[in-house]
Amino acid sequence: MLDYHVHAVAHGEYDYTQEWVELYLQQAQESGIDEIGFCEHDEFMHLVDLELFQRLKAASRHYVRLKLGLEWDFGPGREKSLQPYLDTADYDYIIGSVHFIDGWGFDHPDYQEGYQHRDVDEIYASYADILMQLAAAGCCDIVGHIDLVKVWGHRPRRRSALHYLDPVLKSIKAHRLAVEINGGGLRKPVEELYPSRDIVERMYAYDIPITLGSDAHRPEQVGEGLVEAYSCARRAGYQRCVTFDRRLMTVVPLEY
Ligand SMILES: [Zn+2]
Ligand SMILES: [Zn+2]
Repeated sequence: MLDYHVHAVAHGEYDYTQEWVELYLQQAQESGIDEIGFCEHDEFMHLVDLELFQRLKAASRHYVRLKLGLEWDFGPGREKSLQPYLDTADYDYIIGSVHFIDGWGFDHPDYQEGYQHRDVDEIYASYADILMQLAAAGCCDIVGHIDLVKVWGHRPRRRSALHYLDPVLKSIKAHRLAVEINGGGLRKPVEELYPSRDIVERMYAYDIPITLGSDAHRPEQVGEGLVEAYSCARRAGYQRCVTFDRRLMTVVPLEY
């Protein structure tokens, strides 16, 4: 089992110390995870002690494999913002995520009321449009929480979420990217995995590879929602997921 979406420094509030990171590794071990990928938000990557990470990676390889990921916050105009990170560390994978629509941090609790001032279908269409640009940029390996726009429970009325995301999935397939099944949505008001079941079924129909992740922002959240993510993937037909090593994708059996 893998958990490829873990934040040790969260939004900058935690110090990156050995004791702190080991709490994540302990939780991973207790949750039956054999591969954990830390993927800090790019804006907090400077808080990561890469030497410490490498030491922990070497020390923990017998019970849990460590991977170095990055959650890249994508938006129009940010196409070139990834390269400086790639120049400074050997990442195993890059998760491309969209958290902003025209400067509006739609998934941030402080800006939730933005949904009241906009047409929800237009929000979904704009969000999908940014995802299209992310997929076309082709510089990430995994698309993160692909239907995050539902986080507070707002649903499009004229068309389904799948309708807006279907062209994105086609582009993801064409660009050979993976999509994660992310348990973080279960902790949010929407109380669902990202993405919803119908989207996972469409991903399977398009033969899009998957990873799994908890979106843990604290040690005790490692592995959260992975049982649900696993069952959802299985029900959709998935028998394999993928892992990454220095940005090379490997297909492995999906087991838990
Ligand atoms: Zn995110
Ligand atoms: Zn995240």
